[in-house]
Amino acid sequence: MVRTRIAPSPTGYPHIGTIYQVLFDYVYAKQHNGKFIMRLEDTDQARFVPGSEDVIYKSLEWFGLNPEESPKIGGPYKPYRQSERLPIYQKYAKELIEKKHAYYCFCTKERLDEMRKEQQAKKMNPMYDKHCRNLGQKEVNKNLENKIPFVIRMAVPENQTIILNDLIVGEVKFESKTIDDQVIIKADGYPTYHLAVVVDDHLMEITHIFRGREWLPSTPKHVLLYQFFEWKIPEHGHLPLILNSDGKGKLSKRFNHASVDYYHHLGYLPEAILNYLANLVWFHEGGKEIYDLNEFIKLFDIKKIGSQGARFDLQKLDWVNGIYIRNMKQETLNEKIMDFYKDKNLPKDIVLKTIPLIQERIKKLSDYLPLCEFFFKAPEKYEVDLANKKDFFKQVHQELEKVTDWKTGLIGESLINLAKKLEIKNSQFFMDMRVVITGKKISPPLNESMEILEKEECLRRLTID
Ligand code: GLU
Repeated sequence: MVRTRIAPSPTGYPHIGTIYQVLFDYVYAKQHNGKFIMRLEDTDQARFVPGSEDVIYKSLEWFGLNPEESPKIGGPYKPYRQSERLPIYQKYAKELIEKKHAYYCFCTKERLDEMRKEQQAKKMNPMYDKHCRNLGQKEVNKNLENKIPFVIRMAVPENQTIILNDLIVGEVKFESKTIDDQVIIKADGYPTYHLAVVVDDHLMEITHIFRGREWLPSTPKHVLLYQFFEWKIPEHGHLPLILNSDGKGKLSKRFNHASVDYYHHLGYLPEAILNYLANLVWFHEGGKEIYDLNEFIKLFDIKKIGSQGARFDLQKLDWVNGIYIRNMKQETLNEKIMDFYKDKNLPKDIVLKTIPLIQERIKKLSDYLPLCEFFFKAPEKYEVDLANKKDFFKQVHQELEKVTDWKTGLIGESLINLAKKLEIKNSQFFMDMRVVITGKKISPPLNESMEILEKEECLRRLTID
């Protein structure tokens, strides 16, 4: 059975790149009637941010990409938190030592610093010089008895070509002489990512590993570990990088639009974000650009993932999000807007009435209130100076008072007649009207808005001081 996994580290709000990876994990698993699971890689205590685990679940839930096994819900391969699996890594590290694929390293920090300095001076890549790899068994035992602090390193073979057939990148070759004798157990007894990821992916029977291209340089170490243990290597698919909008470099965590939270707060729709993320690197043969998650599960073909990094383009995301908003039932959009602005206590019935006026215009939920606030609150300032227009508005007031059936068509008719009578150009007339009613030069259609506002309120807004 296909099993895919997300293995986030609890280091804060999930990055949009995490969701991008989950999307492919999830879709691939669902497409093959498999399972998508989550494991928490929390062995790096220095980077631990309290509360992250919960935020990860919330984000996955928001996107509807829920794992079927996780630290929270458990499952047959528990525990799913690496910090609760420490004895397991110890056991496998010992096994590698016995098989001579790993060794104890007692080098002090001072020695390692010295070594690195020398290598830098010689313009060599910093790599462990394998000093402890050939220590005699007696010396090792003595050091262990004397409780000399140690790490465990993998013994990378001298001259081996490591080949990975990546589902997305194709064949990738690495020369073992370029690979460091990686630490697999740290001095504090915790495993490093490399050992833990391989042991867990194996024990949790993960069949397909999707992750960002930035992880590719780690993979030969993992391939070696699988070979040392004589385990089957799962399929790997290294996804194209998401690049910053200027096309330079990986979408950096420093930009706030890298965090999932940013999109949540701006009122992007999770289904539109997923569609956009799929679109970034995956191409439908027929050129289809809009497909929801269920459709994507049907359409997806891993061979159609591009090999180039893709530029994150907020304008394109706005475009996709706008389409999802346009395609939504009015009642659904009403619910979404109410939920998005839940602390504002907007009147739901009025919001519903405004939807036909704005559905085509807004790109994200947070566009709603700047456009529609005037429905709920009379303008406090005007974008155009209306100080010398008092008399004009008085005349409009008199005219509109006569409209008994307060409907868009009749309001418009009455205003056009008055403009004619006063010999004011329609454009000028309606601009002033728009500003006095909405406060702004650009607004939803005026006559329709006035109908929703109702007669009394419109007349009130025509009296300015
Ligand atoms: N813990 C790694 C992360 O934070 C997992 C990388 C992987 O998928 O192997 O993304």
